[in-house]
Amino acid sequence: MNESRELLRIAEELGQLHSSRIAAKQVLDVAKIRQLRKDFLTLMGNASRVRDYAMAIKWSEAVGRWNRDFDDYLYKYLLDDFKNLVYKKVVSERDGKYWDNLIRERTWPFVVEFRVPINLEDEYVSKETCFDRFQRELPRWKNRVMAKARLAWKVLEDFVSWYAGNIGDAPEVDVPVSEKIEMEGFAVTLFGAESAHSAERYIGLFRRALQIYRKRANQVYPWLIHNQLPIRLSFKAGLDAGGEYRSSYILINGYQAGNPEDVAQVIAHEMAHHRFKTMGSGEQDFWERMIRGDVGTIDLRDVVKQFPDKTFIFENKQIMAHDPVLYYQLDGLRYNQSVSRSLSGADTVSDIREYLDGGGDPKVPIHRHPISSYASKNAEEAFCEALGMLVAYGPNSLPDDVLDWLRIILPSSRTASCVS
Ligand SMILES: [Zn+2]
Repeated sequence: MNESRELLRIAEELGQLHSSRIAAKQVLDVAKIRQLRKDFLTLMGNASRVRDYAMAIKWSEAVGRWNRDFDDYLYKYLLDDFKNLVYKKVVSERDGKYWDNLIRERTWPFVVEFRVPINLEDEYVSKETCFDRFQRELPRWKNRVMAKARLAWKVLEDFVSWYAGNIGDAPEVDVPVSEKIEMEGFAVTLFGAESAHSAERYIGLFRRALQIYRKRANQVYPWLIHNQLPIRLSFKAGLDAGGEYRSSYILINGYQAGNPEDVAQVIAHEMAHHRFKTMGSGEQDFWERMIRGDVGTIDLRDVVKQFPDKTFIFENKQIMAHDPVLYYQLDGLRYNQSVSRSLSGADTVSDIREYLDGGGDPKVPIHRHPISSYASKNAEEAFCEALGMLVAYGPNSLPDDVLDWLRIILPSSRTASCVS
């Protein structure tokens, strides 16, 4: 009952999205190139209205936004979709390579040049000096930009006419749609969901993760909810991690595996970066000292003697059941920057044996109280893993020492094990 109501709600929400958004598939034709060029010329025309430093900065920001979109349009969407046509054998490999190279070669100089030549003031250079230099540079810069823009429009026109003559019609460009919605009381931007495979299922999972995140964060550390950043749920390739902290928002990979608690952990982990970056340096120092002070060593010779199992360490049930602490210590080696490369690439106990046979140092640094495998990376990631796990799985998922450190730097957190 609950489940089907949930599905209905998701379906309704997606229905609304479909009706309110602009078409995702665009074509690159003569009209589109004309539009791009017109927008570009409008931006250039604004140069004559710039009368002081502040206006120059404003103008520079507008140009920067346009340039970023243009950059994405060309290299992320147009050329990416074109490469797909080679893959599907609609376009020959030779033609594919030729146009890819030519378009990059003729448009890249323009993208690089089209940045307004104004520097930000600092303690050595005043606004007035910045603006003077800008005014002196402006005419020469304009000439350079216009010349490079001409090459860019020309190659796009040639491409469009080659395409019409050889493939037919105009190339389609799949521009991801970004859609702002409210989900479970959070500001969420869906990015590229319209062309994502099984987006409904992933959005449903994400919604349940948000419910869990809100409830548990309110129980253990409400600061996270009170200071919640907007969330961007991205279905566009190019994000291989679960999420990323981007200071004014958090980016979450739309394609999450696992259960809703695991996704709640990813959300809490990224918000924990926000907490870490904005806390006092005293608290940061304390945490770093605790993590550094927690380092001990294990002897890998004991490990290979005790666990001859050949399965991958991260799915090695034998080690997990017998010694969960050791499990995280071994699995964490792949993130640990202070061990040698040949060891951080070891996936199985046999690999570790090979490392030892090759003369590798059997004594390696590990955390005595590991938080998770990924927490081995550095102190900040360890903090984010700890707070993320506290929110998603509760205090029982963390070593007592780690709970003590969290209590010290986050006095308002509730880490007692009665919280569920
Ligand atoms: Zn992180």
